[in-house]
Amino acid sequence: MTTRRTFLTGAAALGTTTLLPFRLHAAAHAADAFMTANGQVTVHPIAHASFVMETPVGTIHVDPVGDAGDYADLPAPDLILITHEHGDHYNADTLAALAGDATPLIVNPAVYDMLPADLQARATSISNGESTSAGDVMIDAIPAYNTTEERLNFHPQGRDNGYVVTVDGLRVYISGDTEDIPEMRSLENIDVAFVCMNLPFTMGMEAAASAVNAFAPTYVYPYHYRGRDNGTQDPRDFAELVTGQTEVKIGNWYDGVMPS
Ligand code: ZN
Ligand code: ZN
Repeated sequence: MTTRRTFLTGAAALGTTTLLPFRLHAAAHAADAFMTANGQVTVHPIAHASFVMETPVGTIHVDPVGDAGDYADLPAPDLILITHEHGDHYNADTLAALAGDATPLIVNPAVYDMLPADLQARATSISNGESTSAGDVMIDAIPAYNTTEERLNFHPQGRDNGYVVTVDGLRVYISGDTEDIPEMRSLENIDVAFVCMNLPFTMGMEAAASAVNAFAPTYVYPYHYRGRDNGTQDPRDFAELVTGQTEVKIGNWYDGVMPS
């Protein structure tokens, strides 16, 4: 007898066959864990460009947007990273709802300038090429920009950040919105990578896979292909284009249309 792998394992475990509300759905599919020096990092994809990492030194929220209730079953953030100002990455209301009184934020300079005063007081702005730390987490700001002529205005070079986050020895690359720039292709020793795709705003899966093949992370999550712009790229097609030892993680990104 063969057992069909089902996407509803979590729902079955909860003793129901009905479709779960999104936040329960997300929690029930509690994602992938990656070993670190002293424990593990658990990745919880939320939607589009938003995800949460539980780590041995605290919980990191990346580009949280949308309904704060979508995060209700996950730990509150000990650190929040924002890549850039677009609405699918930065939402002041979501931040205000999620951030505690002392939660540090790491942001790019343009977002820093638009943060409400109380959030700005807890934020650190870093530019491309700069580094900072928050507790035991090291953060390097990596450039993120368009290179195709007709896309240059979406993410002009120098404004937005990607990040390499080093936590308990695990190096995690978060691309932000970018094309397959040299600064991505030349990354080294990345354990887990989140690489965007979607047209016209970032890049197609061929460029994304080409870059991934160049820097060869141990694991890669294609992301930023679902949401309000409804996705122009398919993660499974992307996976076909990834060669070498890199393992593609599809993740359980919310499949629906994001709240606006
Ligand atoms: Zn963007
Ligand atoms: Zn985006």
